Amino acid sequence: MSHQGGRILLVEDSPTQAERIRKLLVQDGHQVIQVPNAEQALRQLERDRPDVIVLDNHLPGMTGNDFCREIRLNVNTRAIPVLMLTSENSDVAHMQGLASGADDYVVKSVDPDILRVRVRALLRKSEGERAVPDVESRFRQASVLVIDDSATYLYIARKELEMERYHVETAEGPEEGLRLLRTQPFDCVLVDFSMPVLDGAQVCRQIRDTNADIEPEIVLIMLSSHEDKWHMTQAFDAGADDYISKSTEFSVTKSRIRALLRRKFLVEENRRISEEIRQKELATMRANAEREAAELRAQMADQLAKANRELDRANKELELFAYAAAHDLKEPLRKVRIFSELLARRYGGQLDAQGHEFIRQCVDGTGRMNQLIDDLLAYAQASQAQQGDLVAVPVAGVIEQVLASLQPLVEESGATVSFANLPSVVAEQVRLHQLFHNLIANALKYRRPDVPPRVEIQGVAAHGEWLFSVRDNGMGIASRDQDKIFRAFQRLHSAENPGTGLGLAICKRIVESFGGRLWVESTVGQGSAFWFTLPMEGRRAALAHG
Ligand code: ADP
Repeated sequence: MSHQGGRILLVEDSPTQAERIRKLLVQDGHQVIQVPNAEQALRQLERDRPDVIVLDNHLPGMTGNDFCREIRLNVNTRAIPVLMLTSENSDVAHMQGLASGADDYVVKSVDPDILRVRVRALLRKSEGERAVPDVESRFRQASVLVIDDSATYLYIARKELEMERYHVETAEGPEEGLRLLRTQPFDCVLVDFSMPVLDGAQVCRQIRDTNADIEPEIVLIMLSSHEDKWHMTQAFDAGADDYISKSTEFSVTKSRIRALLRRKFLVEENRRISEEIRQKELATMRANAEREAAELRAQMADQLAKANRELDRANKELELFAYAAAHDLKEPLRKVRIFSELLARRYGGQLDAQGHEFIRQCVDGTGRMNQLIDDLLAYAQASQAQQGDLVAVPVAGVIEQVLASLQPLVEESGATVSFANLPSVVAEQVRLHQLFHNLIANALKYRRPDVPPRVEIQGVAAHGEWLFSVRDNGMGIASRDQDKIFRAFQRLHSAENPGTGLGLAICKRIVESFGGRLWVESTVGQGSAFWFTLPMEGRRAALAHG
């Protein structure tokens, strides 16, 4: 049988014995750590986990049996296979060793090859035990199958094993045994070595091959009337976990079955515990990740709130600055206008027509400059949130006010302005006024020569928001200019019409600050329709969402 070397902790107080066993194991390719007593062995186990422990039963201080019990109590070491070395070949000593938790025992004086096969068999178990845990299992009633062609042995075995509270099945030959194994699960199988047709070793191999995916492995015990090394080696090579002579007292056989089953159940239990630990670790990791994400969200919300506060503060400062600048700019303008008018009044008689024209240009210039300052201020303030509660404003009322202020333009152009069934919207009245004022004024201003303007204002609910339009029959706007006009100082018809080029830029800012969109649809020579949306819940809710 091929095998790989394992790491073996050898606990032996006699230096001669220790050296003999060490050599033997090293020859077999194992790595041996040697300690003289159980106390040092326990310390060694804290540092490193061996694959197998080879343990002298008679040790100074803590005995081998006590050491066994101690390591079986620790979840990290409980599943390490232990091979006990005893000096006496008595059934009592063997049973005590197995009862304390050893997996197997060997009499010191025995043929060294037997020690080697036993170590190898335990190493195989140790490897199986380290496979990935995936089986949910508990300590439970074990089920045992006995395969033997002797009906008498089967009878005795059943009786004895049932006394141990195992579930017992018997098979009078290999075929029946293998059939039973296919139909039900067993923890332990006892196989007689000498049977007709298939011998015990062949049966063992078949069981190992067909149950290779069962973890932990089924415990296989070879029963034999031969006590020689050849038979024993055959049995272990075929995959048996133990080799028991049929002449051994049945109580010893039972102890060995018990020890092997305890190991199997320990492995099952260990896997279950490891799986539980893994699940708990996963749950903890998940919980940690969730907590970190929540903290991050809170942190980000904090930062966002801080940034918003700073933005608010900066905006307020800017607004104050714009006010102050507008005021300071208007003051000298006012002076230029007043003194120009004074000049015209007091010294008008001394001026010729050109002189009067110069003064008119001055006054006109101050008027346009004044308008520009007002528009710039309006543009700066267009996206500022106003303080105070927002209320629903009837749009029709706003439009009536706008038309009142545009009365001279309406009359002069002979315009008809129509609107009906307009809703109320939640928005600041002042900015709503400015929005409609700019759009309606443009509709009147950019009219076609000799075509009296017709302006139509509509407002309907569409897709959960308000949709407004201000439609005219004026000059229209070419497609290539339809985006441009919303940018500051972009004018298409500057020659014929006075203006600062800020009106639509202000409108866009206002609509967007309400949480809506503004766009135009137009045909040159036919007219334009300016569309905009407003959220139904009002700007604050829209901002909170956005
Ligand atoms: P202003 O009216 O001061 O020039 P606006 O920003 O209000 O500034 O308009 C920008 C330009 O868009 C205008 O100069 C004009 O050429 C064009 N425009 C605006 N409204 C209309 C309209 N209803 N019909 C045709 N052209 C328009």
